Formats: sequence, C-alpha cells, structure tokens
Amino acid sequence: MNLPATAKIVEVGPRDGLQNQSQCISADTKIALINQLSACGLGHIEVGSLVSPKRVPQMADSARVYQNIKLNSQVQYLMLIANKKGLDKVLELGTKRIAVFCAASEAFSQNNMHCDINASLHTIQALCQQALAAGISIRAYISCALGCPFQGQVNIRQVIHIAEKLDQFGCDEISLGDTPGTATAGQVKSLLEAISQSLPLEHIAVHFHNSYGQAMANILMALQSGVHIIDSSVSGLGGCPFAPGASGNVATEDVIYLLNGLGIETGVDLDKLISTSWFISQALNQQPASATALAYRAKK
Ligand code: MG
Repeated sequence: MNLPATAKIVEVGPRDGLQNQSQCISADTKIALINQLSACGLGHIEVGSLVSPKRVPQMADSARVYQNIKLNSQVQYLMLIANKKGLDKVLELGTKRIAVFCAASEAFSQNNMHCDINASLHTIQALCQQALAAGISIRAYISCALGCPFQGQVNIRQVIHIAEKLDQFGCDEISLGDTPGTATAGQVKSLLEAISQSLPLEHIAVHFHNSYGQAMANILMALQSGVHIIDSSVSGLGGCPFAPGASGNVATEDVIYLLNGLGIETGVDLDKLISTSWFISQALNQQPASATALAYRAKK
C-alpha cells in the first residue's frame, strides 16, 4: 500500500459539529471543548463561524468563544466566513486563518448560499484578495464534491474547475466534501485521480460524512490515492443542517484509531481524545457517534 508517513487532521467538531446540534450549547462548553481538543495534540481546529446568527444561531457567540480559549501556539485556529462582514470581524479578532465555502452543485449552491456557483466564486475571490493582503491564510470547502442531496450526481469536471479557481485565488488547502455522505471508495479514487491531473494532492483535503457507513473506507482510499489531510469531528458530531438526510461527520477518534493502526503519525493522543469525545457527548446529553469511543468505554 502506498500510504503517507504523516497525516494532518483538521478537527471541525466545534464548528461543523456543534452548529448542527438542536440543543443550546453554552460558550463555556465550546471553550472547554476547544481547549481539550488542543490538549489532545490536534494542530488544526475549526473553532466557529462568523456568519449570519439568524441562519446559524449555534455559532452566534463564535467571536466570544475565540476570545476566551487558551490560545496554543502549536495550534492553527480556523474561522469560517461567508462574506466581507465576516472578514471584517476576523480582522478585528486577529484570527490568522479562515475557511470559505462554495458548492460543486448548482442546486446546493442556490439552496445553501442563495446564489449560483459563479457568484459565490466571485465573493470568495474578493475575500481571498483582502485576506491574503492582511496576512491571513485560507482554506476552502467544496460542498457536494461527490454528490448532492438535491440534484444527485455532480460532474467531476465541475469540481475540478472550482478547485482550480480556488487554487488561483490563493486558497492553500481545498477540502472536498461528501455532503450527503453517499460516496463510495471507487468514486473517491476517480475524483482524486482526476483532480491530481491539475492540482497537487498535498493541497487537497477530504471531508466525509458517514450516512452510508463509507467514511472510513473512503478515507483509506484517499490516503492510498495521495491525500494526507483529513477533516473529522470529535465524537462524530454534526453533519450538515442544509443537507437533508446527511448524518454525522466521521469521528476523529475513529480516524485516529485507523491511522495509528497503519503507523501514520498524527501527533494526537487517542486516550485524551476519547475523554474529550465523552465530555462533549455528556454535555450534549447523548452518546458519541463513534465506534472507538463506545468500544473504549465498554472495555473498561
Ligand atoms: Mg461536515
């Protein structure tokens, strides 16, 4: 097997995970979660989003959360934004890395962003220019890169075209999202082979949802295909509130268990991560959506 020696985990639980929870989550719980995640050795944590609080009420306190976490110099904190207003807040806060998002499906773009793909790329281009000038680095998400909950199939050429644009705009990392969680390993292989013709896979990340139980197989395929950046969410929190039927993100502890078994270095302490998974699950009054967290507890 052709596998990388190290992998970069982008922990998306505090944003992508928690924004999808129906219950109210206090800023203190979010702050404690982020501090625990950074103590686990996770070096890349998406901490919140500065978007409309009307659309995403769970993230309304993201600025306050960021201001109150114990900043760790070893951790890159990531803030999701959608527009100029969000970028202005980032400049105020002093966050050094942002995430922007668009979709590879017109139907999803209209439904989620209320604009077509071209318009969303124009917005992102302007944000990138301003962010880069201010010394802020940028990650980009492409939702529905492997299928769409509204229109079904998505054309690979379209995904590649968008990825090339984002790369030209200066996004140093492009995360391909399987928003409905329907992708299988064969699809992942085809997409990554095609994309590797135009962009180096070192800049590509994968973001899987586990709706059909395929996330782990898809991650293994992505690693074998040359990707080494994986998005995951502690405790399997989240999914996408704008994608009907999509279940949770792949759980970080399941990914770390897989990578440990393959001898791929991540710098993450699995025992601490499992404790963190149970901490946030208990705070939310639920069980972790993670086979590894449940198995560890059952073993004790
Ligand atoms: Mg997700």
